[in-house]
Amino acid sequence: MRPRPVEVESIGSQVMALLVDNLDGMVFRCTLASGRRMTFASPGCRHLTGYASDELLASDGAAYEALIHPDEREMVNGTIQAAAEFGRRYQIEYRILCRDGHVKWVLERGLAEQGVSGPAKIEGLVEDITERVQAQMELAEAELRYRSIFEHSEVGMYQTTEDGQYLAANQALANLLGYGNPAELLAGLNAWAGQFYVDPARRATYRRQIREEGRVKGFESEVVRQDGVRIWVSEDAHAVFDTQGTFRCYEGTVIDVTERHRYEEQLEFQAAHDALTGLPNRNLLQDRLHQATALASRAGVKVALAFVDLDNFKVINDTLGHAAGDLLLEAVAGRLVSCLRETDTVARYGGDEFVLILMAQPGLADIARTLERIQEAVADPVVVGEHRLHVRASIGVSVYPDDGEDLNLLLRYADAAMYHAKEDGKGRFAFYTGAFNRAVTERFAIETALRGAVEGGEMRLHYQPRVDANGRACGCEALLRWTHPSLGGLRPDRFIPLAEELGLIHEITEFVLATVCRDAVSWGGSASQMGVAVNVSSRLFADGRLPQLIRGVLRKTGLPPGRLEIEVTESLLVGNVEHTARQLRDLRSLGVRIALDDFGTGYSALSYLRKLPFDVLKVDRSFVSECDQSEDARALVRGIVSMGAALGLTVVAEGIERSSQLAELAAAGCAEFQGYLFAVPMPAQDVAMWLRRNHAAGRLDGSLSPSDSRPAAVSPGCAEGGPE
Ligand code: C2E
Ligand code: MG
Ligand code: MG
Repeated sequence: MRPRPVEVESIGSQVMALLVDNLDGMVFRCTLASGRRMTFASPGCRHLTGYASDELLASDGAAYEALIHPDEREMVNGTIQAAAEFGRRYQIEYRILCRDGHVKWVLERGLAEQGVSGPAKIEGLVEDITERVQAQMELAEAELRYRSIFEHSEVGMYQTTEDGQYLAANQALANLLGYGNPAELLAGLNAWAGQFYVDPARRATYRRQIREEGRVKGFESEVVRQDGVRIWVSEDAHAVFDTQGTFRCYEGTVIDVTERHRYEEQLEFQAAHDALTGLPNRNLLQDRLHQATALASRAGVKVALAFVDLDNFKVINDTLGHAAGDLLLEAVAGRLVSCLRETDTVARYGGDEFVLILMAQPGLADIARTLERIQEAVADPVVVGEHRLHVRASIGVSVYPDDGEDLNLLLRYADAAMYHAKEDGKGRFAFYTGAFNRAVTERFAIETALRGAVEGGEMRLHYQPRVDANGRACGCEALLRWTHPSLGGLRPDRFIPLAEELGLIHEITEFVLATVCRDAVSWGGSASQMGVAVNVSSRLFADGRLPQLIRGVLRKTGLPPGRLEIEVTESLLVGNVEHTARQLRDLRSLGVRIALDDFGTGYSALSYLRKLPFDVLKVDRSFVSECDQSEDARALVRGIVSMGAALGLTVVAEGIERSSQLAELAAAGCAEFQGYLFAVPMPAQDVAMWLRRNHAAGRLDGSLSPSDSRPAAVSPGCAEGGPE
């Protein structure tokens, strides 16, 4: 039971008294003088201050002013005094010290009246507002904390209205977008919002998404900074509602993802482009082909698909090294691109293969003109270091929709046409015709069969004898023969280049060298002294392992090195000549002889003849075949032979079929001869016999007259079935 008020002035009714008694807080009346000693204080006073109301009334009790926090007393009195001067209501918040030492926040509302004389009179109510003030303070503190996070965050942040007006932004966002401070940024964003996104449609997408879903997450766009630089940003944003569920704003964060974006773009680019040339790769080619053909079928035009393969590239790459090969490919790629229109595509398909998509071609003649232009551009020498490299392009073409609509098939057709162009002589182009399919199938069959040929024991060696100016057998050349169970006999010219391409040439050469040396060691009689020549692919000089291989085989088989001659061709000279020369000198120092085969057909500079350690020069069959036919050919062959002889080389003529050719060559000064006129290539046991017999039967008078120039007939049954 609350104590009854001691004095109730001018509150008449019982009801009013009851109300005042039960009111939370303290209803009071006092003067501003004497420490605000109360003349009335409602019972709520105890709950509020810890003092009973009569304690605040008693002259020896607590004066209310003493309860007011010392820091605020002056402010409270001043406010009340001011209100009193105008007879106004006042409202004031301050702290009081309760009896138990607690501090409470109170709200005092009252009416102050200046007495005619003496201090102001006040009536009012003091309520406990501690809880509310504390909540407010906590809120303010939290706000302060959040503001600090907002202002000091490394992440760009913003708030916008529902219709996209920017309300707030932090310094990080200002920095990100190149503004000095948030205020400038807000002004800029609100003025230029439309141009903020590089793709204006992004803004509409953002707004639709956030309106429909209430949020956007990882929303990536390219934006323009104030300085005009474009960057990529990722935005996370959501709608903010108050406790009543009313929309307040959108707020979001922005981070710079430019670097990641560039990296991803780079990865994407790499996945679709060739690293060396930057051209589209096979993956992208497929896309481009789809686009091209879709476009062409809508427009009713043709698209040409050209498969380009560089002739001689592999030799250059193997001999000059990959760095040179790469430079060459880059140069060719650039030329291909510059020959075509922007709407066309140049893709790198593989090693030295490119695929071109030529858009909107009116007819075959137009395609042909473009291809001619390309071939001319490619044929221009490419300078790599001190080398001037000559490559040519063989091109095969298929046409959409004439040759079909299946893109993979069209590619295969173009590839087939390219092989046809190559077979036709390098540096040409060919349009696909159905007949090529057979050629491709066949090439594929040979490729497959070749992989098992050595292991399967399908390869053998035949030997073609050589005779000297006296017609006496003086050695032979080993020539590889391959008979496949279903493909039949295949000539080296058909499978050696393929073996080089497929990387099978090492295995084949090992087999050839081992077989030849073994065979030669087994020959008895005069044949046991004779030399044997082995053809060696220029490719083998690239890795530098040839001397070691030969040394090993000689040691294993016991063939005296002086009996082995290796025949190399001029293609050797397009490569790293110093590297090659070292290996040739190595071989020479073992005692092995070196012959330059097919001389005159290649592209070597004559100066190499002096620089490289050759022992033998083999005049190519193409010179031999004409030498008895025309004056020009005769002069040419004489020139070649005398030059070789002047350099101290043994000059050998190959491919002699007629005695008239033999007479010419003998007269020109050739030292040795080889050809069907004397013998066709034959198996090992037959050649040993032939060599022995013809060594003895050779003419000793030194003359090889056209009429009786055959030192001995081809042994029946031991030849390859007559001249090849
Ligand atoms: P090559 O070294 O110039 O060999 C001479 C080619 O001419 C041989 O053809 C031979 O059978 C042929 N021939 C010989 N005399 C006559 C003739 O009087 N008239 C005509 N028309 N041809 C004649 P084959 O055996 O088909 O070899 C072709 C080429 O294949 C060889 O040319 C050589 O470059 C290469 N080759 C042969 N065997 C091997 C080998 O074991 N390894 C390597 N890497 N290449 C080889
Ligand atoms: Mg040869
Ligand atoms: Mg030859």
